[in-house]
Amino acid sequence: MIMSEKCKQHVDSCRFCWMCHHICPIGNATGQERNTARARALGISLVNREAIELEEIMDNIYECCTCGACVHDCITGWDPVMFTKETRLQAALEGKTPDYINALIDNCLETGNAYGKTEICPTLVEAVKAHADKKDTLLLLGVDAKFMACKQALKAIQVLEKAGVDFSVLENEAPSGAQLDFLIGAANETKEQMTACAKVLDNYNTVVVYDPNDAKAIKQLYKEYGIETKANIVTFTAFVAGLLRDGKLEAKNSGKAVVFQDPYQLSRDLEETEEAREIIMSYAVLGEMLLNRAETVWAGNILMAQYMPEVIKLVAERRIFNATSIGADTIVTACVGEYVSLNNVEQDKVKIISIEDLILG
Ligand code: SF4
Ligand code: SF4
Repeated sequence: MIMSEKCKQHVDSCRFCWMCHHICPIGNATGQERNTARARALGISLVNREAIELEEIMDNIYECCTCGACVHDCITGWDPVMFTKETRLQAALEGKTPDYINALIDNCLETGNAYGKTEICPTLVEAVKAHADKKDTLLLLGVDAKFMACKQALKAIQVLEKAGVDFSVLENEAPSGAQLDFLIGAANETKEQMTACAKVLDNYNTVVVYDPNDAKAIKQLYKEYGIETKANIVTFTAFVAGLLRDGKLEAKNSGKAVVFQDPYQLSRDLEETEEAREIIMSYAVLGEMLLNRAETVWAGNILMAQYMPEVIKLVAERRIFNATSIGADTIVTACVGEYVSLNNVEQDKVKIISIEDLILG
């Protein structure tokens, strides 16, 4: 496998020290050593030394959600997400990605979303039509909300409507490239999708990005890949917190005790932790999970549930257990993937709601 010197250095410099061992949401869910960053580095190192074939580690390479908890905790500063993503890219270039991943990649290229969906629910069609006129502000819903969690997309629209924001929603949104980036890293196809999206976003002064996955891609990865956007890109949470500050949304605190599930894309990648809290504290009484803000534990998503549903369910169950362990009975989410993942767990101890649910009452 051809791997950049930088990545090789990160793989080889991993001390296999176990300091990031206990914080991997996937490793903790499966209880398997193979799912840790340390084991993944070992596998890649064996491929680099031609001791095993790349194909032998590819399932393992796709068992990482790229949440960056290990990167955050690595005391020596090594970046397992970087070498995992580069391995995905190399496997794609060498035609060695597993078939179940190839199907998702093909869907991304053909339909713009990994699920291969082409239709959105009728209620969302109507809501989008009502915002078809070109305004200065665009609400970017993202593929998860549009195709897999239509009600959440509707709620995002309703929140901005409630605040009297004049905004557009596109019937045919350009995919941000976040899903392709997850599947094949910085491939040409990923960058082409990102460039096309950036061009669309340039037509607006402000783009409110609903899904933290897209926000991370547009605000962080585009820069990394040299893709420019002229628009002011704002996360949904930061935008809504601003609406509250400006008095455009009137909040009534219900006194209800809740905890917040920080999406890692906001808290670790974009270092945005307080805006969601500002919103939640306007409507409820906020308690904290033991691991919060940059220490957050990922609670699952829709994309990985396509090929490892049982593990993603275990991941969500563990996060629910974290909440019940501190006596919480309501978790507030700010990421549609985590909302869906947590709600997929059959249980009656904790209510899973989104920030929009709090606002809309
Ligand atoms: S990025 Fe997240 S899922 Fe992947 S190895 Fe690190 S902690 Fe585990
Ligand atoms: S990634 Fe860092 S913390 Fe984890 S095993 Fe390697 S050196 Fe240790």
